[in-house]
Amino acid sequence: EHKASSNFIKNIINEDLKSGKVDHIITRFPPEPNGYLHIGHAKSIILNFELADEFKGKTHLRFDDTNPVKEDTEYVESIKEDVTWLGYKWDELFFASDYFEEMYNRAVLLIKKGKAYVCDSTAEEIRKMRGSLIEVGQKSPYRDRSVEENLELFERMRQGEFEDGQKVLRAKIDMDSPNINMRDPVLYRIAHATHHNTGDKWCIYPMYDFAHPLEDAIEGITHSICTLEFEDHRPLYDWVIRECEMEQVPHQYEFARLNITNTVMSKRKLKQLVDEHVVDGWDDPRMPTISGLRRKGYTPEAIRSFAREIGVAKADSVVDSKMLEFFIREDLKLKAPRTMGVLEPLKVVITNYPADQVEMLEAEINSENPEMGTRQIPFSREIYIEQDDFMENPPAKYFRLFPGNEVRLKNAYFIKCNDIVKDEAGKVIELHCTYDPETKSGTGFTGRKVKGTIHWVEASQAVSAEFRQYEPLILDQEEDDDTSFLEHINPNSLEIVQGFVEANIKDSKPQDKFQFFRHGYFNVDPLSLKQGKLIFNRIVSLKSSFQL
Ligand code: ATP
Ligand code: MG
Ligand code: MG
Repeated sequence: EHKASSNFIKNIINEDLKSGKVDHIITRFPPEPNGYLHIGHAKSIILNFELADEFKGKTHLRFDDTNPVKEDTEYVESIKEDVTWLGYKWDELFFASDYFEEMYNRAVLLIKKGKAYVCDSTAEEIRKMRGSLIEVGQKSPYRDRSVEENLELFERMRQGEFEDGQKVLRAKIDMDSPNINMRDPVLYRIAHATHHNTGDKWCIYPMYDFAHPLEDAIEGITHSICTLEFEDHRPLYDWVIRECEMEQVPHQYEFARLNITNTVMSKRKLKQLVDEHVVDGWDDPRMPTISGLRRKGYTPEAIRSFAREIGVAKADSVVDSKMLEFFIREDLKLKAPRTMGVLEPLKVVITNYPADQVEMLEAEINSENPEMGTRQIPFSREIYIEQDDFMENPPAKYFRLFPGNEVRLKNAYFIKCNDIVKDEAGKVIELHCTYDPETKSGTGFTGRKVKGTIHWVEASQAVSAEFRQYEPLILDQEEDDDTSFLEHINPNSLEIVQGFVEANIKDSKPQDKFQFFRHGYFNVDPLSLKQGKLIFNRIVSLKSSFQL
């Protein structure tokens, strides 16, 4: 059994346990329910759950639902489903919004201590006053309001007396700090909006930098793991815990977020793809969402192996998407039954085979895993082969079918092409071949050799199927190119073709996975049930130049 790969956070936890700083471990995965989870979240889920697991600790699933406008119960449900599917069980489930009263009380405490004030400046004015790395901050004209006035105004904010944006509560820290996060950050803002959990009870909502440390402290989180962009926020995190006088003191640790080549990794952007119908929903197989990967045919095992391999780093980097593909191939190699599917069919009539005969041939279910046994496949006078496996005028070194050439039909016989039937437009629509009964697969025939092996499906029992093949949704973008990713959508990201599969997989269920000879790994799409026909998503092709 693999455990979280050795990483710096593990070392920190080991030290903390040794020094007695903590005597148990609680981690959390804290998604904001404003979209579906993506593969980047998977990295965080796996890290948090496996760290806790390794130290016999606990992990909370916490919905960081402090922004009513963007959040929805649909997302809450999808997140629970995805975490569960990845193979993890949270010890406790929490909603940050359940802490609103406590957060409010802690804000009042800050006001009483002279550590927070109500500011009437607009968001734009506040942004300007906070300055930049090279500009000093400027104090708000409201900074010296009395405690009494602040208490009264904050209460009136809560009562709904002001409009959105009219007032905010700000921490009173240090307008000269070199860290802009410490220049009187906003703690609360007004938003007259219905919240998915608390309804219309609140019209003021805590900001992430105030809410998150409190959530961690309330739950007794020991190690709060977040992505690197929050490193500069850590002093504020610690300030909130300290000044709010929280009993339990969590610590924040940052790790590099996962980035993957040609992959949009932000819920906001993924939502744009959904809203603008670039894709057909959050679970479109082209999406890097967990639900999209699942529908495409990825397994939890493959995603977990991928996450373990990339490990946890302190510096941002971009992982090649081929690496994710490597792990799904690895996972399916021994598990997925082999079968044959013809994506773009061309009929072949075997003229010397008896017209009324169908024979059953034996084939291995998985040549790399003989324990999976064998299957029976029908063979008769009419079969389908791949259009690409025939050329009327082939170039040199083309070893598949062409007039006069002989090839091996996988698991069956050698056939030789004698005649071509064309339609009025000159398109090849049928081949006439002869087979040699001596060459039957499995009989050890050594009389002569052929260079090409092609796949096929017997025509009378062939099952119609749709095959969906995918390419990256987003095309490569130059680093200095600042146009929107929406201008770099790959027009060929989905290709749909109609073909046939072997009869013995006709009762396949959604999410069943197969390796189609020469084509790669495919997953039965859940849409199959609705449309009453087999729809296969290509998970990944067979070969890759990628090496670990
Ligand atoms: P997004 O911008 O895609 O919405 P987010 O960080 O705002 O991402 P949250 O719902 O706040 O999304 O994230 C929950 C957890 O997942 C956080 O702890 C966050 O650090 C982590 N996370 C999000 N994206 C990644 C990523 N690409 N790699 C690793 N961890 C991530
Ligand atoms: Mg977030
Ligand atoms: Mg976000």
